[in-house]
Amino acid sequence: MEKERNGHSALCLVLSYPTQGHINPILEFSKRLEHKGIKVTLVTTRFMSKTYHKDASNSIALETISDGYDEGRIGHAESIQAYLERFCRVGSQTLTDLLEKLSSSSNSVDCIVYDAFLPWALDVAKKFGLVGAVFFTQSCAVDNVYYHVHKGLLKSPPSEPQILLPGLPPLQPQDMPSFIYDLESYPAFFDMVVSQFSNVDKADWVICNTFYELEPEVVDWMAKMWPLRTVGPTIPSMFLDKRLEDDKDYGFSIFKPNSDACMKWLNDHPKGSVVYVSFGSLASLDVEQMEELAWGLRKSNSFFLWVVRAFEEAKLPKNFVEETSDKGLVVHWCPQLEVLTHEAIGCFVTHCGWNSTLEALSLGVPMVAVPQWTDQTTNAKYIMDVWKMGLKAPADEKGFVRREAVERCIREIMEGEKGKEIKKNALKWKTLAKEAVDQGGSSDKNIEEFVTKLAHS
Ligand code: UDP
Repeated sequence: MEKERNGHSALCLVLSYPTQGHINPILEFSKRLEHKGIKVTLVTTRFMSKTYHKDASNSIALETISDGYDEGRIGHAESIQAYLERFCRVGSQTLTDLLEKLSSSSNSVDCIVYDAFLPWALDVAKKFGLVGAVFFTQSCAVDNVYYHVHKGLLKSPPSEPQILLPGLPPLQPQDMPSFIYDLESYPAFFDMVVSQFSNVDKADWVICNTFYELEPEVVDWMAKMWPLRTVGPTIPSMFLDKRLEDDKDYGFSIFKPNSDACMKWLNDHPKGSVVYVSFGSLASLDVEQMEELAWGLRKSNSFFLWVVRAFEEAKLPKNFVEETSDKGLVVHWCPQLEVLTHEAIGCFVTHCGWNSTLEALSLGVPMVAVPQWTDQTTNAKYIMDVWKMGLKAPADEKGFVRREAVERCIREIMEGEKGKEIKKNALKWKTLAKEAVDQGGSSDKNIEEFVTKLAHS
């Protein structure tokens, strides 16, 4: 049903941080808003906009602002701190210019949904008297850790051996996001994740890409402070329904998936026989870790589909691809949702990025957690001990997960007793995720409420 506001549909600008892991969930959320009758214009940086493609399944309009690096994104800044400072300055100005342009046309904006990594967008929204909704792309558990650090209620790095926070299970320091327990390595990222809470009290909505049933205690606790609504998992329902049909919508795509080769290869393998391996779009593995992973996969004797981004390929052991061609396929990028939905997949060796974690949970794929940094360490803890959806591969004193650990975890999930329990849980989470976004489910109701209030505000 089309929602009318003063004779026109409410219009939302949706502003994302320019990386794949942020754009994917925000774009999918935008589609759900449009589905419920809100007009949405996605706003991203000029550089990132070059990879945007609209097709029959993606009708979201696009506008651009500048992060000050129109020719080459984050990698061209001298540091992440320099990037963020320039993005704040140039982004605030170009967002203001965009709003002025839109307000002089018939497209006057009602609301800005902005990525929590860009808190300055709320100041711009308020300057124009607009509704401001912050969108958090991490789990609520991770949000809660950052919030406590921001408030000075938790020291970084934590001094106690066990950290007790409301709504969270007892955590050890290494279960914290890496920016918190390893502050010295990433001071600029520390500032960025903690700054997400700098003005959250002024936001009209706090939207989180998770679903209530996944983290009820922490959601309840945080919802006492803010008008918090869970809207996830932000996965196209065609995947949740396991109907692939012919929709090939990846929204933004930094990397072109080689869909045909992967899917053809998977079609040739028996149900539940393939280990899918991916470390997302940002993580860069140490050569030693790549080798351990490679030989662990080989020793597991399972089939494997491994995403090794082009710039990581040289880190593979010499002749590995040729020598394992009877068992594995190595690609630079794949259509992950399609892959995870394929019945040949038996488990997912993952870096535990939040999107990958939610995708595997929601599609019922057991995980071997090999976290690298940022929130992945906390997600891995939840995957193993809270959701019981997988095993965390233990690292040695140098921080590497050795081949024996990789092999053991894969075998345990694919063939072992623990694997049976994990697979049962996987089915449970898959059902709950689908229920959350189906009509009348917890996330669907929250989106409905957001849309209705926006239309009548
Ligand atoms: N992805 C993909 N193909 C790949 C690897 C990843 O489509 O070969 C997608 C994946 O489905 C997820 C996103 O890229 O939506 C990665 O986000 P995540 O939060 O897992 O990790 P990040 O890249 O932010 O570290």
